[in-house]
Amino acid sequence: MSDLSPTVEQPSELSQIATIVAGLRDTFSSGYPREYSWRVEQLNQLKRMTLEQQDKILAALHADLGKCKSESWLSEIGFIVGDIEHTLKKLKKWMKPRKVSTPIAAQPGCSYQLPEPLGTVLIIGAWNYPFQLVFAPLIAAISAGNCAVLKPSELASQTSKLIAEIVPQYLDSNAIAVVEGAVDETTELLKQPFEHIFYTGGETVGKIVMRAAAEHLTPVTLELGGKSPCIVESSADIEVTAARIVWSKWMNAGQTCVAPDYVLVEKSLSSQLIAAIQKKLQAFYGQDIKSSKDYGRIVNQRHFARLSHYLEGQNIVFGGEQDLDKKYFAPTIVLDPALDSELMQQEIFGPILPIITLNNINESIPFVNQRAKPLALYVFTANSQFEQKVLNQTSAGSTCVNDGFMFMLNPELPFGGVGHSGMGNYHGKFGFDTFSHLKTVMKRSFKFDVSLRYPPFSALKLSILKRLL
Ligand code: NAD
Repeated sequence: MSDLSPTVEQPSELSQIATIVAGLRDTFSSGYPREYSWRVEQLNQLKRMTLEQQDKILAALHADLGKCKSESWLSEIGFIVGDIEHTLKKLKKWMKPRKVSTPIAAQPGCSYQLPEPLGTVLIIGAWNYPFQLVFAPLIAAISAGNCAVLKPSELASQTSKLIAEIVPQYLDSNAIAVVEGAVDETTELLKQPFEHIFYTGGETVGKIVMRAAAEHLTPVTLELGGKSPCIVESSADIEVTAARIVWSKWMNAGQTCVAPDYVLVEKSLSSQLIAAIQKKLQAFYGQDIKSSKDYGRIVNQRHFARLSHYLEGQNIVFGGEQDLDKKYFAPTIVLDPALDSELMQQEIFGPILPIITLNNINESIPFVNQRAKPLALYVFTANSQFEQKVLNQTSAGSTCVNDGFMFMLNPELPFGGVGHSGMGNYHGKFGFDTFSHLKTVMKRSFKFDVSLRYPPFSALKLSILKRLL
């Protein structure tokens, strides 16, 4: 091609976004995604995609976050397959009209809620579980009969690229589209009309999403984060507690929205707990944690620098080693950080665990309540009175007694935040409901058209009505 030949500008993804969304909306209007058979077919195809492409998915997750196979299976691939199987088993039941009783004044008649799909929805994922956080909401969206745009996180670039490559090979491209990209692409997407936006990520962008959604009066689900406390009371089995804290904190190198952010423990128990945690860390990852194939890596240099900065001037009692080139950040324990330090002001979202010592464990309750409502709260105790006190006097998206984020594995439980940790929820039937409108239906009979409610009114009619209603 000569230098003088006119350059034909390739349409960028950005300029195609409105057309992509309009196409999905046309598909929804055509009506077929509402069909049970379409939903089942797409879910089966998604399962097939996940299983057939698992080697590529595992490789992408390893490239983005250094995730090992077992962790990727448990928290991403197996999680999605399990979610699809659960949905397929229950879908017919979830789609059924949900009957309720009808008051005497409306008899003869019947009343029910009829789940109907919302339309075309936008799913924006985060980088830390880059496969699961896009496809778990998609399972819910498909099960409810919607069309969807997926926007995977650009920070997990290999997984994002793979998602864009494989989704069109398996799923109905007229109904499900992937838009890759960062701020510009997401901003353009947010200008489009959607019937629901499902966002996973940080609070700052959550506000941007909600502001943009307001323009179209679009409802949002915000799956955010925050500082999830972990209270360890003296009656807890310290060995088991330590194992479960280590599992939940250092999976994915601490880059988990529901990882324990910090531990609250009585002073008298802190040395024993720290020793038990160190022992478990070494049992799980070996003496040379850096060479463990089971320990993940920090997603990028920006997040590495953020975490490094949190450690400045802190009392590190375990770990602290950092290798920026390899994005290795050691499991690190900090004892009694200043409460106004960034480490205790920001969500850590990395492998640093502050241990805050208290004179009395009852102080943990006001400590939690003085801060934003967390996504998760953990309490380790064999004392049922203390357990009840924590359950009744604190608020969190989820609370787990005597474990870390095991509650995530139960599809019968909703997952979502409260207050600053988010709004709305999903998983299992809760996800189906999030992406459905539960339409109110009342059906009356033509028989017995009692005239009590019609004018002309009289004192007698009113007194009968008062008794009936
Ligand atoms: P991120 O950087 O991947 O951003 C999330 C999404 O927002 C991405 O798809 C990104 O493209 C988009 N985005 C970024 N800036 C934007 C802008 N200015 N306008 C529009 N879109 C924009 O992820 P993150 O925010 O670093 O995620 C970490 C946070 O997410 C943590 O707070 C964590 O706790 C939370 N999180 C919550 C859950 C949950 O299920 N509740 C799960 C994972 C992560």
